[in-house]
Amino acid sequence: MSDCIFCKIANGEIPTNMVYEDEVVAAFLDTSQVTKGHTLLVPKKHLANIFDYDVKDAGAIFRRIPIIVNALQKAFPDMKGINLLNNNGETAYQTVMHSHLHFLPRYQKEEGFGIKFENNSSQYSDEDLKNMAKKISQAIEV
Ligand code: 5GP
Ligand code: ZN
Repeated sequence: MSDCIFCKIANGEIPTNMVYEDEVVAAFLDTSQVTKGHTLLVPKKHLANIFDYDVKDAGAIFRRIPIIVNALQKAFPDMKGINLLNNNGETAYQTVMHSHLHFLPRYQKEEGFGIKFENNSSQYSDEDLKNMAKKISQAIEV
């Protein structure tokens, strides 16, 4: 897509701190560096977000994950963990509309990145959960 910043980066049209690329993906440093080594993995072809993926895209892109994780672990031996984050849609905080997976190396618990998981289980009865699982399972297409 001509006016997409990540297409331009993936196609080498604008400079970036590239860490890995092949025919399917490009991985480069996120300018914000939320944590040291914060890297983005993007498909080379323009897919807006996960809703654009088919099974083949998912297989091709996500099987590259260990390449980046292993490189980060080797490059930063002080890394104690890693968060993989994939925002899809504005409601889910996606700001760049070319699919990307964040690799956020973690060195300590408090370091400019946080995730809040609330427990909202009190809002659902056992019956609600049963119906919810049924609704999802009936929608699954393989
Ligand atoms: P999102 O909020 O869409 O999940 O994340 C978009 C990310 O892209 C942000 O973390 C932001 O720092 C990063 N970003 C935005 N523009 C550029 C850019 O031109 N180059 C690089 N390397 N990262 C960018
Ligand atoms: Zn794009």
